[in-house]
Amino acid sequence: MTGTPTVYVTRTIPEIGLDRLRERYEVAVWDGKLPPTKEHIVSMLAELDAAGLVCLLSDEIDAEVLDASPDLSVVSTFSVGYDHVHLAAAAERGIAVGHTPGVLAETTADLAWALLLTCARRTVEGHAHVAADEWETWGPRLLTGPDVHDATLGIVGLGEIGTATAKRAAGFEMDVRYSGRSPKPEREAELAEFGLDATYVDRDELLAESDFVSLHVPLVEETEGLIGSAELQRMSEDAILINTSRGEVVDTDALDTALAAGQIGRAGLDVTDPEPLPADHPLFRHAPERLVVTPHIGSASTGTRNRMAEMVAACTEAGIEGEPLPHSAIRDAGME
Ligand code: NAP
Repeated sequence: MTGTPTVYVTRTIPEIGLDRLRERYEVAVWDGKLPPTKEHIVSMLAELDAAGLVCLLSDEIDAEVLDASPDLSVVSTFSVGYDHVHLAAAAERGIAVGHTPGVLAETTADLAWALLLTCARRTVEGHAHVAADEWETWGPRLLTGPDVHDATLGIVGLGEIGTATAKRAAGFEMDVRYSGRSPKPEREAELAEFGLDATYVDRDELLAESDFVSLHVPLVEETEGLIGSAELQRMSEDAILINTSRGEVVDTDALDTALAAGQIGRAGLDVTDPEPLPADHPLFRHAPERLVVTPHIGSASTGTRNRMAEMVAACTEAGIEGEPLPHSAIRDAGME
């Protein structure tokens, strides 16, 4: 590699990150509204002889992409999740992988709560009702839903986002249960400071006892289809399922069946399988009465997106300079 290193960025991320990269490198940005194809990414990396790649969770970064430029030393994904990056292939090639942990948790927890409250208190339906000029009078049975306060919240995966979501339950005086591969005493202590007594239970118990089930596990082999028909059948018929993790954690067909059969009350999804969810997808027939969907906007606050842009820039710089990444996905996945 000679001259100024080049970085290819697969979408227009916030200016603060692009400016930082431009201070040191030649930066080429895909400015399309939709993601570039994998072929396009491969050809751009090769053409630019790129040293760095900044990608999104919608880009599949596999061996073919990683081999596209002989000078590629770092891939930085504008997300905390890195299931779209083949970490083993990157590690084998000595290519560092950066991601953006630690800054999305509170913002994503806010969104989990937005969905939870929306599903319980039927605000999307309420808005549609008013907008359609159907609001004729105060109705004793109009758009009733379950109480949120004093209810039981079940957190599947008490990590960063799961804990931030649980913390917010304190104001609603809820009972909190959580499940995962092992109890998390430090997380329980953190929640105890907010007056919450979070109890570790097995997943079946959590599903049976929770009024609200909120999913916060990463997408890995063991969590794909974690919530399928057997799990949905364990939930109560009024229970509300919230998914802000990854679409594939829930079996979409099973959810469709459960909503159609009234096995669960409602679902609020920020992530879907497939993603994007087309408006003519069968699941959508349950909206808005039993289903509310947002387009994967968990981390979409201006402040958080700016911080994420700075973090991918910092990871890219470190990778190109041959320094340890401030946030390495390979390290965080326990692979080094
Ligand atoms: P985290 O801190 O790593 O927490 C993940 C939790 O899941 C851990 O407590 C872990 O608990 C549990 N877990 C891990 N592997 C598991 C497995 N194989 N089976 C069952 N449980 C498992 O992650 P986070 O920062 O909270 O983020 C969680 C996920 O949210 C991310 O991976 C990402 O996919 C998604 N996310 C979505 C958005 C959005 O825009 N909607 C934004 C940010 C993140 P145990 O060790 O006890 O199992």
